[in-house]
Amino acid sequence: MMKKVLIIGSGIAGMTCAIECAGKGMKVSIVSPYPSERAQSVLAAGGINAVLECGTDGDSINCHIEDTLKGGCYIAGRNAVRGLCEDAPDIIRWLEKIGTVFSTDTDGTIRQRAFGGQSYNRTCYCGASTGKQIVTALIMEARRLEGLGMIERRTGIDFYSALIADGECCGAILHNRRTEELEAECADFVVVATGGMNALFRMTTGSSLCDGYAAGKLFEQGVELKNLEFIQYHPTTMITGQKRMLVSEAARGEGGRLYYDENGKRVYFMEELFGKRGNLMPRDVVSKCMEETGKDIFLDVSFLGKERIMQRIPEVYELCKKYRGIDISSQSIPVVPSVHFFMGGIAVNNEHETRIRNLYAIGECSSIYHGANRLGGNSLLAAVHGARVATASIEKRSPGNKQYDPTQELNAGRERFKELRSSKSSFPVMYIRDMLAQNMQDDLGIERNSDRLRKGIDDISYYLSIADKINYDNSERIYYAYSLEGILTAAKATLVCAMSREESRGAHLRSDHPQTKDKWTASTIISYDNGAYNTKLDVEGIYEN
Ligand SMILES: Cc1cc2nc3c(=O)[nH]c(=O)nc-3n(C[C@H](O)[C@H](O)[C@H](O)COP(=O)(O)OP(=O)(O)OC[C@H]3O[C@@H](n4cnc5c(N)ncnc54)[C@H](O)[C@@H]3O)c2cc1C
Repeated sequence: MMKKVLIIGSGIAGMTCAIECAGKGMKVSIVSPYPSERAQSVLAAGGINAVLECGTDGDSINCHIEDTLKGGCYIAGRNAVRGLCEDAPDIIRWLEKIGTVFSTDTDGTIRQRAFGGQSYNRTCYCGASTGKQIVTALIMEARRLEGLGMIERRTGIDFYSALIADGECCGAILHNRRTEELEAECADFVVVATGGMNALFRMTTGSSLCDGYAAGKLFEQGVELKNLEFIQYHPTTMITGQKRMLVSEAARGEGGRLYYDENGKRVYFMEELFGKRGNLMPRDVVSKCMEETGKDIFLDVSFLGKERIMQRIPEVYELCKKYRGIDISSQSIPVVPSVHFFMGGIAVNNEHETRIRNLYAIGECSSIYHGANRLGGNSLLAAVHGARVATASIEKRSPGNKQYDPTQELNAGRERFKELRSSKSSFPVMYIRDMLAQNMQDDLGIERNSDRLRKGIDDISYYLSIADKINYDNSERIYYAYSLEGILTAAKATLVCAMSREESRGAHLRSDHPQTKDKWTASTIISYDNGAYNTKLDVEGIYEN
């Protein structure tokens, strides 16, 4: 019997999984609120890591593994990381085959640049629009399979909840934005690929579509979350109104230097602290050092000259010119750290399965390869690799033989919609979402402490206590109303994880616990039980096989 796979989210992870599953003869349905062209994946600028020519310059897959484990402060599972790095060269070949146009030398060799925390230049790139180029190639390939009737792509669809019976997932309840109604889709396997949790924060380089709802809802439904406290602040972002625009690490990879001004003299503080490769230290280190200076920080690439800038980082040139009127061939860029990437997310085993059978999570919404901090260029890789691993696991499985009747869940959801539509309460949804984003920004900054975290948990608990009394203003989508509780739950779980880890490691810096402690060399797992948030350290590595 043909297996049916429902994929939620159509960024690089979801689209790769759709193509891979269809290629193995499965019937695939992939849903998302907007087309893939609007997924956060298209923002990825700098590149994707792979050791292409082992040994030519001293680099090796073992070295990629060690850099990844070290960058993650040794809490990512070695076997999973090994799989990631070993698969990387084949992933690049596959991406090329389906039409990704990488930047090459005249002889066709793929160019590789330096990226933070890596011992060698191993980041393959397409100018500074790597994500866009990969997504374009994936769309072309998915269209081909769609034409053959092997994939169905639907937009205007949000995840509402998972259908779970006897610890086994058998589909999902979805929200159709066009009809504003709920519908059920049964499937043998469900793969969640909904991206990070950027919209929980006010100042982020990421997309507001990545709001953490799916993770929060699944958590309430029994899925465990992992390592939520590890949130990567990217050191070089530009303030552009309410948004933070990424100044790709490629700018530092090409030699860009960070400095502050002291009495008219430039202080290249990263080089003073760490020597020649100082500007390319892992992102948590750079962000922390920037914050510690207490000064306005600038990034200078002007010495590269306009010709090289236009050759190697033209998008950085265009972005700075367009959004801040800065000509980077003669002027420095003012930069600040901002929320960028989530190392934590849905807990999965090495096959990307959650603790609910037949429910998988891949891409940035899952937590597996990056430990306490991610190396730039490793997340695009992880999005593709995770999709391949999940596909291989699903391929081995027999289709679920449950005939599931979703009527009860559908009716409960419809009842909830009715309540939301008729609510006369005075708590406007968008106000609470705004307050949440500000709270998270204030209480979960680069450095945290127990007072701020406690305050954050209390504030979010209060919002949760009024979340069922919200006023659904008809001018907004009902999505914003029904998703509020799940988003708040994800936010609270994040704060609780940060509170529980009483040490500093990677992207989690506690001013009240500044040391890294050996006994904490393990992942944080958080589970939900009737409103209680329970954390534990995964010292036994339960998710690592
Ligand atoms: C500015 C920027 C630059 C980056 N540059 C790099 C880089 O150079 N190299 C690198 O390796 N990584 C980079 N990253 C990180 C990388 O882009 C992401 O980790 C990766 O693209 C995530 O892919 P994904 O498929 O998991 O998620 P996404 O691309 O975020 O896709 C998520 C999908 O899920 C959908 N979705 C969300 N919520 C729901 C819901 N409730 N219901 C249904 N669908 C939903 C979304 O609409 C979308 O289709 C960068 C990130 C940013 C923000």
